Amino acid sequence: MNRVRILVLNAALGPLDYTVPEGVDAVPGSVVIAPLGPRRVTGIVWDEGRLPGTEVPAEKLRPLLGLLPVPPLAEPLRRLVEWTADYYCAAMASVARMVLSSGGALGGPTTTTEYRLAGGEPAGRLTAQRRQALDRLAGEQGTIRELASAAEVSEGVLRGMVGAGLIEPVEVAIDRPYPLADPDHDVPSLSPDQSEVAGRLVEAVRAQAFAPFLLDGVTGSGKTETYFEPVAEALRMGRQVLVLLPEIALTENFLARFEDRFGAAPVLWHSSLKSTERRRAWRAIAQGSAQVVVGARSALFLPYADLGLIVVDEAHEISFKQDDGVRYNARDVSVMRARFEGLPVVLASATPALESLHMAEIGVYERLELPSRFGGAQLPDIHILDLTREKPPRGRWLAQPLVDRLAQRLERGEQSLLFLNRRGYAPLTLCRNCGHRFKCPHCSAWLVEHRLSARLACHHCGLETQLPEACPECGEGDCLVACGPGVERIADEVAELFPEARVAVATSDTLGSPERAAQFIAEAEAKAIDVIVGTQLVTKGFHFPDLTLVGVVDADLGLEGGDLRAAERTYQQVAQVAGRAGRGSKPGEVLIQTRHKDAPVIAALADGDRDAFYAAETEARRDAGAPPFGRWAAIILSSEDEKEAREAAIRLGDVRPHQGDLMILGPAPAPLALLRGRYRYRFLVNAWRSANLQAALRDWIGRAEFAPGVRVGIDIDPYSFV
Ligand code: ADP
Ligand code: ZN
Repeated sequence: MNRVRILVLNAALGPLDYTVPEGVDAVPGSVVIAPLGPRRVTGIVWDEGRLPGTEVPAEKLRPLLGLLPVPPLAEPLRRLVEWTADYYCAAMASVARMVLSSGGALGGPTTTTEYRLAGGEPAGRLTAQRRQALDRLAGEQGTIRELASAAEVSEGVLRGMVGAGLIEPVEVAIDRPYPLADPDHDVPSLSPDQSEVAGRLVEAVRAQAFAPFLLDGVTGSGKTETYFEPVAEALRMGRQVLVLLPEIALTENFLARFEDRFGAAPVLWHSSLKSTERRRAWRAIAQGSAQVVVGARSALFLPYADLGLIVVDEAHEISFKQDDGVRYNARDVSVMRARFEGLPVVLASATPALESLHMAEIGVYERLELPSRFGGAQLPDIHILDLTREKPPRGRWLAQPLVDRLAQRLERGEQSLLFLNRRGYAPLTLCRNCGHRFKCPHCSAWLVEHRLSARLACHHCGLETQLPEACPECGEGDCLVACGPGVERIADEVAELFPEARVAVATSDTLGSPERAAQFIAEAEAKAIDVIVGTQLVTKGFHFPDLTLVGVVDADLGLEGGDLRAAERTYQQVAQVAGRAGRGSKPGEVLIQTRHKDAPVIAALADGDRDAFYAAETEARRDAGAPPFGRWAAIILSSEDEKEAREAAIRLGDVRPHQGDLMILGPAPAPLALLRGRYRYRFLVNAWRSANLQAALRDWIGRAEFAPGVRVGIDIDPYSFV
């Protein structure tokens, strides 16, 4: 008799066994519908013997209800799901959900009804709501729900307009094909260095075998142009390519370059796709008609029909690490996917993660270097501005030498960029009268003042309130003071110093959508902006040839706190933002404001001595048994009840394993002791490389019992320590 075990897409359920009805071809990887009590569940037929479970007698099994009309998940992807779940101590169902991440796509090819304005002038008077819909929906097409959100009216209003003939339905095929990319559309002439690197990568694409590369090229060296050549080769071979980018909303520049090179846009994948776009992209990816997919980390788990190359651009970026749900690192899982599929994978960066450099050093990754900027542009000059000697005046944050340089740029009509990794106006607001500090009620965090939106906001849970007129504690009016700077405050300072300068704030608050990002880039390119004040967003990928000055407002900011990678991250951020200066024909200059000019990372930045920094950091990591020499894992216990969370932490502490290859720190209240209304305790585990860390953690957690309100999170290779 034919029986199968399926992985159900619900982490609360274990694997389940079914019989396969006559005529149903349920091979491993098939996506199926199965009965469960009165319900129907979606699952994936798994390879025999690879999912644990108890044998149910054959006569008790129910038959599968049928196959979903999508290709079965290929074997390498099934192995990747298993590996990811095992490595990150996550449920296989949760990983599988990232593969089958479009519910709509599983229903098979179909048309869908979308709506758009019927055109023509409406007869008679319109309600204000209908007027608003007519004004806002010009050129839009989508489901009623999507249009309702675009027009900011209710769905009922739009349905009424369909009835009145003002809005018309249109049938669209969901699977309509994407425009084809042409590998030879506009081939650039590469520099000799670029050619050599591109040649090596093209060769690897032809070979179609596992080959991990570290593409280590300075900012402005043309890494993108270079890796476009193996992309072109994969296209010629009819294979698919995945390019992972850290911040998909900010990829306008990348998309434009892609289109120039290949004559068509790539297929986009990110979390804010409309459901119809998501469905279309998913199906095209599974059928192989999506040639090049450009996506955020979640694109990594899609069921590519015929993948030929993976590129991870800005591979050092920590946004590749997911911090909730399955806590995976897309950079590392990319390499595993390439291994299972037998493909080349390219990690591109100007400031590679120390872990990646180490892999290159020991010969696991092949290192390809682009040591100089394209077109003869020079790397910028870097100077340290010692804030202990050059104190800005009270209530100001820019020291005089930086102000002088700004003035000079404004005079010459060149652009400047000031970098401060802090959104909003001020990180803390307090009452001058009673000392009250504005705190988030749900998180251990100060509320950040945002003057542009006239709000106090919690950057952890998203809470927003209005800044009151009077202190809520003592009732005094006009006594609230902003402490410390955020980018908005720096922008104000520039505006006070240089009233004629055109200043733009560039943060996720101001550039949150692709449209706004595109507008910002267009303005900066048209030189309608003199001074950009931005957070880490502006460290990524921008290329403004007339930008010649970069000021790092507070290089010490990233060094505070208990982050194990603080020095490395500071190095990366400052080096990346410095890399925005002098990319055209005019030389660039970088000023770094710091109170710790002798800190090794600052000294290395000043000397432009990346190798020295990495060498020192490597030794420090080796001594500490930190990655890549040892491994870290975090366990986070949380509950809405403080006592419950604390008791759970103590209980888990009591049954901790005692083995020589694991060192366990904690439990301790997390630095963010309260987050979104949950009290949090942390353990930090430091393991030898040879330890079976995951098995030890699973075994440990399995020995403790927790109250039902307690959540246990495991974070392998954590990047966040709060
Ligand atoms: P990186 O990503 O390494 O910082 P980019 O890929 O952004 O560098 O390249 C910097 C600039 O140089 C871009 O404007 C890019 O279009 C240009 N460029 C790089 N290589 C070439 C080339 N071979 N031909 C023409 N332009 C190039
Ligand atoms: Zn909060």
